[in-house]
Amino acid sequence: MIKTCFACNRKVTGRTDKKFCSIPCKNDYHNSQKVKLGQAERYMLSAMRKNRMILEKLKINEPVEKPVSYLENMGFDRSGLSGLILNDDKSVQTTCYDYALVLRDNMALIYKMKQVHSEQTGSGK
Ligand SMILES: [Zn+2]
Repeated sequence: MIKTCFACNRKVTGRTDKKFCSIPCKNDYHNSQKVKLGQAERYMLSAMRKNRMILEKLKINEPVEKPVSYLENMGFDRSGLSGLILNDDKSVQTTCYDYALVLRDNMALIYKMKQVHSEQTGSGK
């Protein structure tokens, strides 16, 4: 079986598990993979940061319900969320850093979570 280089598609000779025809091809391939990952990370971080700034503007002290369209008009991007929490009652809430959002019927119940991480650091046991 003729194997071809992952980077340039030229014939690969030598060890059976070899994937690249040369060191430069190997480096080019791995660098291109890092660029792709970097772009995805930057997009997600940007979307999450922007969403958090929007939620911060709402100055939430108590849980508040807003139409999702209201948030989206402010630029909120539903793909820019940082996590999911499965509650004991099997309902799911999304998080954007320290904010929790329960999305249901085009409404978002939003509240600020306790800042767990700052309480966990600095104990120096
Ligand atoms: Zn190559």
